[in-house]
Amino acid sequence: VEKEASDFLSATTETLEAYAAFAGEEIIADLLRLGEELRGVRFQQVNSTRLGGGVAEMLRSLIPLERALGLDVSWEVITGDLAFFNFTKQLHNFLQGRPGTIDILGVKAYWETNRANYRLLDERADVVLIHDPQPAGLIAFVPPEVRRRQKWLWRCHIQIDKEGCLMVDFLKPLVELYDAAIFSAMSYIPNWQVQSFIILPYIDPLSEKNRELSETEIRQVLDKYGLADPTQKPLILLVSRFDLFKGHWYALEAFKEVRRQKECQLLFVGGTASDDPENERIFAALAEEVKKVPDVCLLNLPPDSHREINALQRAATVILQPSTKEGFGLTVTEGMWKEKPVVATNVGGIPAQIADGYNGFLVAPGEAGIREMAARILYLLEHPVQAQVMGRRARETVRERFLITRGLWDELMLVKNLLR
Ligand code: UDP
Repeated sequence: VEKEASDFLSATTETLEAYAAFAGEEIIADLLRLGEELRGVRFQQVNSTRLGGGVAEMLRSLIPLERALGLDVSWEVITGDLAFFNFTKQLHNFLQGRPGTIDILGVKAYWETNRANYRLLDERADVVLIHDPQPAGLIAFVPPEVRRRQKWLWRCHIQIDKEGCLMVDFLKPLVELYDAAIFSAMSYIPNWQVQSFIILPYIDPLSEKNRELSETEIRQVLDKYGLADPTQKPLILLVSRFDLFKGHWYALEAFKEVRRQKECQLLFVGGTASDDPENERIFAALAEEVKKVPDVCLLNLPPDSHREINALQRAATVILQPSTKEGFGLTVTEGMWKEKPVVATNVGGIPAQIADGYNGFLVAPGEAGIREMAARILYLLEHPVQAQVMGRRARETVRERFLITRGLWDELMLVKNLLR
C-alpha cells in the first residue's frame, strides 16, 4: 500500500487540465492562481487509513492535484492497535448517536496512540489538516513554539448528532485547540469555541472509481460475479462498508417487497476499512440473512476494487443508500455521477445532493422507510424513461456542485484566509 501510495501521489499539470472537460476552464485557472499564491506553504494531511471509506477516497485524489498545483503536501496515516480502533469506532458510533457504553481503557489507548503517532508530524509544516476523530488528539502533543507557527485544521467527515451525545464532551475541548474546524453540513456545526466552516465533499471524475468504462469491461465484471444481464433482470445495488449505520437490512427488506412484484436482483458490495473493526462481524451476520433470500448477491471486495465498483455502479439499474446516519454519502454522489437514479434516506448529507423526485428519491430512514423505498424502486423499474431523466439530472447536480475541483478550491481558499 505504501509503495502504491508513493506511485499515485505524483501528478502533473496535464492531469489538472484534464479536469477542465468536466469542471470548465475557469475553475482550473482559479486553482492555478491559488496554487501560485500558496507556493512555498507546507501542508500536512493526516488521517487513519490509506484505503477504504470516503476520507481515504478523497485524499487519494486530492493530494496529487494539490501537488500538481505546485503545493508542498505530505500525507500521513496514523497507526494503532485494535484497542485504539475499537475505541475510535465506538467514538464514531456515539458521535452519530448510537447508544452504548464507554470503554475507559479505550481512552487510554486513544491518548497513547496519538502520543506515539506525533512522530509522524513534520514540525516544519505550516498547515496541518487532521481528518476525523482518530488523529484529532495529535494536537495535544505539539510543543508550544511549534504550535505558534502552525495552523491546525480539523476536518469532520461524520454526521455529528449534537443532541444527547456523551462523546461530544470528549471531542469538544480537543477541537477547541484547533484554529478552525470544517464540517460537511451546516446542521453538524456544534456550538464550540472554534471557527467553523463548511466544505461539501466531492468526487474525482478521473479516478478509477468514476472514470468512463467500456461496455465490455462492465460486462466482464458482471460475468465474473455471476450477475445476470441487468437489461434482462434489473440490478439494484448498495455499495457500502459493512457498518450498522448503512442500512443493509432495510435494503434487503425493501428488495423482498419489490421482488414479489417484479423480477430483479440485489447486490451488496462492501469491504473492510483497516480503521473499522466492526466490518467482519456485520458482514458475517448479513451473509446469514442473504442466504435466505433468492437473487441477492453479497460481495466483500478488497479495498482497492475501485474499478470493479465503478463497473457495478455503471451496470446498476437503481442505486440504494438507506443509511440511518450519513456524514455525506460519497456512494450517492458516485451513483449520481453515473447517471443513476438513487433512492436514499433523507439523513445527514444526502439531502444536500438529492432533491426528492427531481434527481433521485429520498425516503425516511429505518423501518419507517422500507415500504416507501420499495415503492420508489418499483416505480423506477417500471418507468425507465423517468429513471433516465432523473439520472441525467443527477449527473448535472454532481457536475455543478460535487466535483473535486470545487472541493480543492474551497480548501485552498480557507487555508489562504487562515494564513493571512
Ligand atoms: N467504498 C469502496 N469499497 C467498499 C465500500 C465503499 O471503495 O467496499 C468506497 C465508496 O465507493 C465511496 C467510499 O468508499 O467512495 C465510501 O464513502 P461514503 O461517504 O459513502 O461512506 P463512508 O465509508 O465514508 O462512511
